[in-house]
Amino acid sequence: MNPFRYERVQNIDEALQAAGQGGRFIAGGTNLLDLMKENVERPGRLVDINRLGLDQVEPLPDGGLRIGALVRNADLASHPWILERYPLLGCALMAGASPQLRNMATTGGNLMQRSRCYYFYDTATRCNKRAPGSGCGAVGGCTRIHAILGASEHCIAVHPSDMCVAMAALDATVNVAGARGRRSIPFQEFHRLPGDTPQYDNTLREGELITSVDLPAQGFASRYSYLKIRDRLSYAFALVSVAAALRLEDDGSIAEARVALGGVAHKPWRLPEAERMLAGETPSVRSFTRFADALLEGATGQGDNEFKIELACRATVRALTQAANGTPQSQVDKRIA
Ligand SMILES: Cc1cc2nc3c(=O)[nH]c(=O)nc-3n(C[C@H](O)[C@H](O)[C@H](O)COP(=O)(O)OP(=O)(O)OC[C@H]3O[C@@H](n4cnc5c(N)ncnc54)[C@H](O)[C@@H]3O)c2cc1C
Ligand code: SF4
Repeated sequence: MNPFRYERVQNIDEALQAAGQGGRFIAGGTNLLDLMKENVERPGRLVDINRLGLDQVEPLPDGGLRIGALVRNADLASHPWILERYPLLGCALMAGASPQLRNMATTGGNLMQRSRCYYFYDTATRCNKRAPGSGCGAVGGCTRIHAILGASEHCIAVHPSDMCVAMAALDATVNVAGARGRRSIPFQEFHRLPGDTPQYDNTLREGELITSVDLPAQGFASRYSYLKIRDRLSYAFALVSVAAALRLEDDGSIAEARVALGGVAHKPWRLPEAERMLAGETPSVRSFTRFADALLEGATGQGDNEFKIELACRATVRALTQAANGTPQSQVDKRIA
């Protein structure tokens, strides 16, 4: 048992001050506490941010939506504006974890959750993410859940979130506050590839607090699909997931396409130049397969996870086909949401 101090802060200034003195934020605690119990994380000071009042979903003047960092995953998934305007995000949230976890997990915590790599959790093994410079136990080890894109010799872990895959496809923005002021980070720049510093999951600076996430007005509410492939039908992380969204012209051709992959890289994987190739195309298995081949270009298996390359291609084609037909893989049931 590592001793730690626990304190509750009442406003953002107090939170930033505590973080500046080595404090570590805790929100729902569903990831951080697990890591503390496994001895992977050993913070000396826990700063409870649950009373900061960042638990609102608010409209933005440009037609978008602002989601407070402390909005719970369950509340967000069932929020009327998410159901009506951003069902892709609602489906991704409902595909994650279990009802109990979604009741606790927050938007900010979900963004910051750490990899589920077996070796990261096992302190008896080498892991550059947990102990920089110690090596990577996964390379040459069990790699069923590991990356096929964007990996490095130092780390082949993937980002495990479902929510973030939908937010990447929707072009969200992460708003943060820190000692040097406030700034906004485009979603694609928030998570990062491992390179030779896999200890950093994202581009948040030391002590910065996520305050909210903004969604732009375009929610792709009529043509979308979140397709999650996993070893169990529920309560399991994605082997591969796809957030697909389309906007069609009146003649049925594609005006705009968005696709993000989860479970394949250290960050939700998007390729805007490949998405642009779809503009003007007629939705078809042929055009979607061509797109999937471009999206997966350079994908490399790590042994056990070779199957993910073909799986990701097929899942992409399926999700895009569902989006084009207006028949998403799953929908949040408004009666129970
Ligand atoms: C058994 C199990 C199954 C799961 N399955 C899935 C799944 O299928 N899909 C999925 O997407 N997720 C899944 N999860 C992960 C779950 O979604 C995350 O644990 C949760 O979203 C984390 O949110 P939290 O508020 O509990 O974060 P916490 O545990 O409180 O914090 C996590 C990290 O975020 C930091 N943090 C929290 N809030 C902020 C903030 N506002 N600003 C800066 N830093 C912050 C903390 O310091 C900490 O480092 C699962 C978790 C468990 C335990
Ligand atoms: S893949 Fe990354 S998280 Fe997993 S053992 Fe290697 S360095 Fe650690």
